[in-house]
Amino acid sequence: MRSLAAALVLSLLAPHAQAGDPGIEVRLQKTPGLVDAAKVVPGLRVELKYSTTDNFLHADVYGSLERCYLQRDAAEMLAAAAAQLAKLRPDLRLLAYDCVRPVSVQRRMWKVVKGTPQQPYVADPNTRTGSIHNYGCAVDLTLADAQGKPLDMGTPFDYFGQAAQPRHEAGLVQSGKLSTEQLANRLLLRLIMARAGFQPIASEWWHFNCAPNSVARKKYKKVP
Ligand SMILES: [Zn+2]
Repeated sequence: MRSLAAALVLSLLAPHAQAGDPGIEVRLQKTPGLVDAAKVVPGLRVELKYSTTDNFLHADVYGSLERCYLQRDAAEMLAAAAAQLAKLRPDLRLLAYDCVRPVSVQRRMWKVVKGTPQQPYVADPNTRTGSIHNYGCAVDLTLADAQGKPLDMGTPFDYFGQAAQPRHEAGLVQSGKLSTEQLANRLLLRLIMARAGFQPIASEWWHFNCAPNSVARKKYKKVP
């Protein structure tokens, strides 16, 4: 779990955070190339954690944004992942936690984590690539049952620690910190995403990229 000190710092910061950009949803609707993934992906459930206070910022930084916008390519790949899931486990659904993330929001997140132990978990908006979420080419998601209840992946979304990192899974299972059932749930998610062409990352079980950084940079524009 996150340390008490870090939680206190974040909760102190939250009341001073600006309200979410009220025009964000309208802005994304008008952004060329982006689509509402729920219209493309059969059965997709969407629960944007940054549009609630149930996130590591303890602040709603998305305001009016409630939908999952992605590049059309990424949304079509996600539809292919949903089709794979329907074949293997028709009782399950995809549940998206984060999709496109405008650079303006990335900057706010960076301000909160810079200089804290959470810094490695947020991409620096000042680098050439920033976050692949800024391009609408990354999706954070899990698997849920037909009622929308997320499967047990061993940690919640945005858990900052080794237990969330695929690179440590073998050791986590060996030491009993991750059950074989939790690992199986993660592997099912990775399998269907990989079959659709998504790339996992070593540090977060929930995050998938639709293309490598260099390709994303060339093909898509960052959403301001
Ligand atoms: Zn992500």
